[in-house]
Amino acid sequence: MTSHATTDGTPSITNGRATEPTEVGSHATATAPVFESLSVLDLFKIGIGPSSSHTVGPMRAALDFIGQADASGRFDEIVRLRVDLLGSLGATGSGHGTDTAIMLGLSGLAPDTVETPQITATLEQIRAAGELSLGGRLTVPFDEAKVFVFRPLTVRREHPNALRITAYDASDDTIASAGYYSIGGGFVMRHDEGDVLSPVPAPAEQLHPVAHPFTHGDELVARCRETGMSVAELMLENETAWRPREQTIAQLERIWEVMQECVAHGIETPGVLPGGLDVKRRSKEWHAKLLDRDAAPKQGRPDLLEGMEWVNLYALAVNEENAAGARVVTAPTNGAAGIIPAVMHYADRFANCVDDELSWQVRFLLVAGAIGIIIKSNASISGAEVGCQGEVGSACAMAAGGFAAVLGATPEQIENAAEIGIEHNLGLTCDPIKGLVQIPCIERNAMASVKAINAARMAKQGDGTHYVSLDTAVETMRRTGADMSDKYKETALGGLAVAYIEC
Ligand code: SF4
Repeated sequence: MTSHATTDGTPSITNGRATEPTEVGSHATATAPVFESLSVLDLFKIGIGPSSSHTVGPMRAALDFIGQADASGRFDEIVRLRVDLLGSLGATGSGHGTDTAIMLGLSGLAPDTVETPQITATLEQIRAAGELSLGGRLTVPFDEAKVFVFRPLTVRREHPNALRITAYDASDDTIASAGYYSIGGGFVMRHDEGDVLSPVPAPAEQLHPVAHPFTHGDELVARCRETGMSVAELMLENETAWRPREQTIAQLERIWEVMQECVAHGIETPGVLPGGLDVKRRSKEWHAKLLDRDAAPKQGRPDLLEGMEWVNLYALAVNEENAAGARVVTAPTNGAAGIIPAVMHYADRFANCVDDELSWQVRFLLVAGAIGIIIKSNASISGAEVGCQGEVGSACAMAAGGFAAVLGATPEQIENAAEIGIEHNLGLTCDPIKGLVQIPCIERNAMASVKAINAARMAKQGDGTHYVSLDTAVETMRRTGADMSDKYKETALGGLAVAYIEC
């Protein structure tokens, strides 16, 4: 696998921003940001599994392509489609459902609104008929084996997750062609003519500066000290630059609802996960065992870590749903979607969460979002860019910060909790077996959920002062990711992915 970093002056992409590179492999300097701030609702999105970068992002790109084709004025003349999947999308796109996500997007379906039964029905219909209804209004022949071209060894310098969709007329002339980068967490950038990069869709953030801007942990703590606000209050005030306060609260409550639905559906669904590894779904069986255990009369010493098994269960339930392609909350990615819901369910069941005028759930998500903004602004949440430390590590840090907040932590303690959460995931590689978001991903979410709870508790024991700052840990994560071989960045070419031998 070749390196994707060059020094030829073309734009690179980091953190959801178009930037000019300053050195080989450097993501340090953002000189031409496309947008200045991120919203908590950029970090938490309702979508479908199994991957935000390989499923949700490409689906959004395909949906956007319909508009591009429409703009050509020759939409009705389209008779053939071609989709090139490059780099990591070419290497693990099949296992991650990139191809099927694009089929759904081309059919006019959006990741945040499509219902799980609609997914199956649409794919079955395309395969049975050998035709796809482009944008739901133009029938075109569709043979997956011919439409999708997997090019894992072509790694674009701008980002390892690249794709191009092209539509042709009956003379095989191009009607429309658009390139995209799926940069993690469901974020997509369009690669237009002349290397102009634009987010899809253009975020409203460009238009409204926030009241208390921050991109670093030390800035966040300083803003809280200056204003006397909690991290959650400050975040909520920033969010009002984009939408009314009550709307943000309602949307975060909806996010929590979907997380609960996801856990509930996960723990009642048995079976085997798709993809060929025959991984058994375990959460239904584990749930029954935990209920029996908790109902049984207690003997001997109390097991103080029994609650940890509930944390494991919640994470497994979400990640099994994700691996099955069902509805989840991207938090901040799909591969790491189980951690924040698992810690929130633990908080709901076992912790004494401190309430104020905001529900603890809304405060948890606002604070987790603040930590996610810092990580995404300075490093990455994409496994294809920096390995699993960017996905599971980021989610662990976000959950640690959120949990610390609802336990009553100060901004300094929250920053400390998030730092512990990321520090002890540094160097974590992405090496999913068969390119499926199953092994090690599902159990890894459970491990990181427990780690997040511990991080919050450790931070709460202190006064917020600590040796390594969150900003240093995030910068270390970025540098470690830049040093990491591409074999460990969602390509399934190293680690467990090759240690496992198929019979
Ligand atoms: S190993 Fe980590 S980064 Fe890679 S697919 Fe699994 S959860 Fe995502």
